[in-house]
Amino acid sequence: MGLEKIIRNLLCPDLHHNNIYEVDLEYLKSIGIEGLICDLDNTLLAWNNKIIRPEIEEWIFKVKEAGISVCILSNSLQYRVSKVSNCLDLPAISKAFKPRKRAFKLAMNILEVNPEKIAVIGDQLFTDIYGGNRLDLLTILVEPIAKKELISTKLIRIIERKVKKYLKENQFI
Ligand SMILES: [Mg+2]
Repeated sequence: MGLEKIIRNLLCPDLHHNNIYEVDLEYLKSIGIEGLICDLDNTLLAWNNKIIRPEIEEWIFKVKEAGISVCILSNSLQYRVSKVSNCLDLPAISKAFKPRKRAFKLAMNILEVNPEKIAVIGDQLFTDIYGGNRLDLLTILVEPIAKKELISTKLIRIIERKVKKYLKENQFI
């Protein structure tokens, strides 16, 4: 596979939004989505932030109301992830090592929804989107909430920006 094909097949999200609030839940419902695998850092909350703002709770409520079950899938450590999952009353998997398939499959089992009815949402191409695409799940990319993040993530962002530029230039996103 050529590099361009790899980018198009594995790193290109199906949908792209500025943030979670812009996701059209009615549309997801209309195409049969019943489960959502949701990234934590810089998707739901700013990286290393513990404050769960009311709009996040409201959004989760709306997602559930649309008949979509949610499971948090995060590469972060358990103490951080479980705090958020307890607050939002959602199942969660920490230390997921995304884009590895194992944790995605675990989340799919927790959701008890068939793969064709599952969407993945996250802010990173190389973990959330690549992980979801390799399992043929619907993938939704959002822009990161904050600029602050792990140094290793910052380094990956340099390559990510190049891929995003390519995807935008070719009108894939
Ligand atoms: Mg993230």
